[in-house]
Amino acid sequence: MNSSLCVMKFGGTSVGDADCIRRSAAIVKAAADQRPVVAVVSAMSGVTNRLIDGARRAELGERDFLHPLISGLRTQHLTALRALTSDPRKYAEVQNTIEEVLGELERLLQGTALLSELTPRALDAISGVGERLSAPLVSAALCELGARSVPVSATDIIVTDIHHGHAEPLMVETRKRAETHLRPLLRDGVVPVVTGFIGATLDGVQTTLGRGGSDYSATILGAALDAQETVIWTDVDGVKSADPRLVPEARTIAEISYTEAAELAYFGAKVLHPNTLRPVTAAGVPVWIRNSFSPEKPGTRITSRGKSNGGGVKALTAIRDVTMINVGGPGIVGRTDVLARSFAAAAAVRANVLLVTQSSSQNDICFIIPTAEEKRTVQALRDAFAPELAEQTVEHVSANSSVAIVAVVGENMQGIPGIAGKTFAALGREGINIIAIAQGSSEYNISLVIDAAATQKAVTTLHKEFRLHEASPATAEATSVGKQSPEGVSAAGPAGTRK
Ligand code: ADP
Ligand code: ASP
Ligand code: MG
Repeated sequence: MNSSLCVMKFGGTSVGDADCIRRSAAIVKAAADQRPVVAVVSAMSGVTNRLIDGARRAELGERDFLHPLISGLRTQHLTALRALTSDPRKYAEVQNTIEEVLGELERLLQGTALLSELTPRALDAISGVGERLSAPLVSAALCELGARSVPVSATDIIVTDIHHGHAEPLMVETRKRAETHLRPLLRDGVVPVVTGFIGATLDGVQTTLGRGGSDYSATILGAALDAQETVIWTDVDGVKSADPRLVPEARTIAEISYTEAAELAYFGAKVLHPNTLRPVTAAGVPVWIRNSFSPEKPGTRITSRGKSNGGGVKALTAIRDVTMINVGGPGIVGRTDVLARSFAAAAAVRANVLLVTQSSSQNDICFIIPTAEEKRTVQALRDAFAPELAEQTVEHVSANSSVAIVAVVGENMQGIPGIAGKTFAALGREGINIIAIAQGSSEYNISLVIDAAATQKAVTTLHKEFRLHEASPATAEATSVGKQSPEGVSAAGPAGTRK
């Protein structure tokens, strides 16, 4: 038995039904036969969306959805459980947990409907239910395979701040909890199956790490336990040169640096939660992205250096649900405080500013935020500039939500002449209008704001322009079984077919 710890995270599709859970459990079991493993799991695919939708409907005072939602979740999880365990005692134990969690969910939704009010705290409690339902299933599947395993709630381990919906871990406390709650299990050869996505404050109030946050949970636990590596098992072969839903010919990148992968995640590559690499970057712990439906493939390795492709474009990404905010008018020329006040107003409502540009004549400040944050940001800006808007020194605070950001990502982008020129020429040839550009201090990306309707065309055009569909040393589609797979997990589990 190798003593080096591995954290393995399984996303929603990898635990989407009993077959997927069995396949994922087989991957964990094969690794756990060789080394200590902590598993981290997401909710079954689609469950978090259904929970959030339920919360929103309860906020409107609706109740008619309640019964179908809860009984649907019960049927889905109990059907999977029945297929996954042959032990009646285990079945009864997990069924109990499922009923407890569903009972709590019902009370939360009833309370929300009664008050017609959905607090951020209640939304976190409701949206985190999916992981509390899936972790016992995965643990039961592991026991069925002969492993020793227990489900563990991350609310006992991952201590966070109080920022509901996008909480951040308090690592010192989290480390302590991981040592007391997880280390003894690992020493005993037990596989803890930890709920992804959720954590709790020091006072025990449940929080969430943001949508897609189970990736982040995995690296938080990896860092807290000094794991040797973290493997994120998902439904694609690794990080690709573009979102495969937009560009089907996108290639799997064999190796990429933390910075490049973080840029991709930040600019919308759903394969990684934007904060995933933060906890492991300082220690240089590798993170793998692998396909639980094709475990024989090596996936993408994310490390501090990544494999160089000699510099230049490595991948493209796009974010569509964004809004462009403009603060401007000729009256702001020469006023030095407008920029600072705009960002202070945005920061006060915790708007996530993704990109900033300012026209050279200085009469227009433009920045991009997620559309979900538009209402509160525009309100905050209108409040902040109320006197100037009244006397028209600031003429407008406007919002345009029919835009998208396309980011061209790679190392040493500024050191390679012509990338920006090539990007603009290719988009120009296709008649795609560039609304704003940012090639900030980061050497790792050029980001463009375009009309949202042109997103797919822009990404496809640039993918061809930079020949990203062709194999390069960094994008070589590795086919040899387990050639550079992380130790102990190469080709683990059956090669099952995708759902
Ligand atoms: P999981 O449920 O396993 O966390 P996600 O749906 O959150 O999976 O993320 C995986 C998805 O990310 C893929 O199915 C793919 O459609 C999307 N994706 C977007 N950009 C990329 C990219 N550059 N490389 C790989 N996948 C990407
Ligand atoms: N289940 C959560 C979500 O859908 C977390 C995750 O899947 O990573 O956002
Ligand atoms: Mg995800």
